[in-house]
Amino acid sequence: MSNKYDYDAVIIGAGISGLVCGCYLAKAGMKVLIVEKNAKPGGYCTSFTRGGFHFDACVQSLSSLRDDGNIRTALKELEIESRLGFKRYDPSDIIVTPDLKIHLWNDLDKTIQEFQHYFPKEANRTNEFFSYLKNIEGISFSALRSITFQDLLDKYFTDNNLKSIFSFLLLSNSGLPANKISAFAGAVVCKDFILDGGYYPDGSIQSFPDILMERFIEYGGEILLPCRVQRISVENNKAVGITLKKEKYLSSEFVISGCDATQTFLSLLGPGSMDDETTSLLSKMTTSLSSFILYLGTDGRITDVPLDSLVLFLPHYDIDALYHLTANGPVDQIDWFTVRVSSGKKRVLMHVNVPFQSDVYWNENKKRLIDVFISKMETIIPELSSHILFKDAATPKTLQKWTLNHRGAAFGWDWTPAQFALKGLSQITSIRNLYLTGHWTTLAQGVSGVTYLGRRTAKFILNRKDSLS
Ligand SMILES: Cc1cc2nc3c(=O)[nH]c(=O)nc-3n(C[C@H](O)[C@H](O)[C@H](O)COP(=O)(O)OP(=O)(O)OC[C@H]3O[C@@H](n4cnc5c(N)ncnc54)[C@H](O)[C@@H]3O)c2cc1C
Repeated sequence: MSNKYDYDAVIIGAGISGLVCGCYLAKAGMKVLIVEKNAKPGGYCTSFTRGGFHFDACVQSLSSLRDDGNIRTALKELEIESRLGFKRYDPSDIIVTPDLKIHLWNDLDKTIQEFQHYFPKEANRTNEFFSYLKNIEGISFSALRSITFQDLLDKYFTDNNLKSIFSFLLLSNSGLPANKISAFAGAVVCKDFILDGGYYPDGSIQSFPDILMERFIEYGGEILLPCRVQRISVENNKAVGITLKKEKYLSSEFVISGCDATQTFLSLLGPGSMDDETTSLLSKMTTSLSSFILYLGTDGRITDVPLDSLVLFLPHYDIDALYHLTANGPVDQIDWFTVRVSSGKKRVLMHVNVPFQSDVYWNENKKRLIDVFISKMETIIPELSSHILFKDAATPKTLQKWTLNHRGAAFGWDWTPAQFALKGLSQITSIRNLYLTGHWTTLAQGVSGVTYLGRRTAKFILNRKDSLS
């Protein structure tokens, strides 16, 4: 390290991307500090105990643990593969509509057979489509970046209900339906969650960030938590350090922001730091939807419900109407949801994407909406309400407060073709030595995606450091 700086690299946020980036940099011998505003690491990938029940706050399962998958690669390269065991739910997901039930099995052939059973006329095309998804690595990036996933579905299938099922999977996993999400992004989401999803770490979701933090410290990294970064300092268009509360200044050769991009650009970097092009781009960007999450503890006597698998309830096939309601409300009329029953039927988690609305809206409606959604869940879990011992919920307001993600966005920016891989809003910014990582980079989302980015951001920095020395 050059004696000029307190640190070689400072990372804002101990979300999964910040932690992974920190591990790679510290492993390479850099003096690294991660600053996290919460008292524990993980960001959206975290767990908590309340009312005697242990809940995963947001992330419920991980994907991409196949041999060359993003999370597996990071665990191997950081030499922590043997420290974290995973079980894989089988089926990982069950899609339930009024007229069918499709299981996503660990054995892809079994999954394909289920699709073919319900959509026999599309049997050959289903095989071809899944084979395409499996081989996505070989597909040229530029061919997919300007089209939507709907364009891709239209090339393969004619059955609108089948297309709606894929679109619904995307909506629930990324906050956008097929006709809005970029084809590249949709293909990555499908590949991650349909072909290689449903993994759960030993202990709870919190185990993953905890082990990354442990490894980061073993590599010599330092972590400050709970501690919120107030400002990023820039001199001559180069990031040079951060300021914490009480005006404590720490200088650093590189600054990496793993937190919300609007916060990074509009508040941490003071006015006038950004070039006009990025400022104008930011004003036009749209953020992904937020989530309403129910945490229910039960007496363990609920019936007729599969254990551990994620059940995705699609009430009808009109995805345009479904998305319009999801994006605009009214929230109580949103009629799809996902639900997972686990811990011997004692823990029930329900997710649905919702618009941010306002703080006042959630203050006034949270309690009522908990009961509204419990009653909707009784469509698939009979008499659920009579078994509940504990109930609470996280709203977009809760998610924003926990992570400072703008409007409680669940997946960073909307992953549309127009907002994909944008110059200045990707890992490399227009400010020298200021890098971004995580789901606000316009490049990836989900735990698998941000793990990939953490590793890739670290590689950019290590290459740059080499070229400077
Ligand atoms: C309800 C919900 C369910 C989800 N389910 C899944 C799932 O099952 N599987 C999956 O793969 N993905 C899921 N996702 C998406 C996934 O959680 C995210 O894409 C991923 O965790 C983002 O990681 P990140 O590191 O980019 O950012 P974050 O998790 O947002 O972490 C950013 C961190 O920065 C910290 N921070 C912010 N500002 C500051 C500051 N000024 N100073 C210091 N620290 C700061 C925050 O406290 C936070 O810890 C879900 C998301 C939501 C909301």
